[in-house]
Amino acid sequence: MRRPGERADAARGGPLPVPAEPPAGCALCPRLAAFRAENRRAHPDWHNSPVRSFGSARPELLIVGLAPGLKGANRTGRPFTGDYAGALLYPTLVRFGYARGTYGADPADGLALTGCRVTNAVRCVPPANRPTGPEAATCRRFLAAEIAATRPRAILALGAIAHDSVLAALGLRRNSRRFAHGAIHELADGRVLADSYHCSRYNLNTGRLTEAMFAAVFEGLRRRLSRRRGAAAPGRARRPPGSATQP
Ligand code: SF4
Repeated sequence: MRRPGERADAARGGPLPVPAEPPAGCALCPRLAAFRAENRRAHPDWHNSPVRSFGSARPELLIVGLAPGLKGANRTGRPFTGDYAGALLYPTLVRFGYARGTYGADPADGLALTGCRVTNAVRCVPPANRPTGPEAATCRRFLAAEIAATRPRAILALGAIAHDSVLAALGLRRNSRRFAHGAIHELADGRVLADSYHCSRYNLNTGRLTEAMFAAVFEGLRRRLSRRRGAAAPGRARRPPGSATQP
């Protein structure tokens, strides 16, 4: 049986590990590859390729967004960098000890993530910020490989599509854990999956998500992870897996 992050080797019948990063010219999603080419013609100085994950190689926390923004990560080449979402995400990571430095909306800003890694469920910019279901499913092999390679203790999904992609990448049924802002799901393998509305311009401008709500998600995660560290100590009971609770 294949594990996440492995694909069948048709020639030998055995599994080969899928690299966590797609090749620069990945063309598995024709629509997205064509959109990249279109943007490359219009903006040859932009990144216009699949965006690599950013942060610690062995993170405690993996943050999974939806997809690169056209003028954000697709332009700068670093997840959540140069757009509205990064202006909230990265200062929040600094505040909660998951990043050092000052976010400057530029990959050369010197910001370093500590115990944290940031990636996207879909690595290429989609037209109108909307990947299709098949595109999310196609790119999931890289998310699965990312999780398998970095083995985070906690995953924070930004939005329902990222939540569903993480579940599928872990081989779990989509409706086994429902997306809910602020929820923290205990997974059977001992990890936790936390949910937040995406820190997108739309969600922030419409008030669906506020800075305080976003910070509360990190507060809840911090409490949960420190409780779990305590629970892992000898003589302390652990919560049974399979439950989702508000932090
Ligand atoms: S979205 Fe993922 S699978 Fe699709 S072309 Fe880009 S890197 Fe390849």
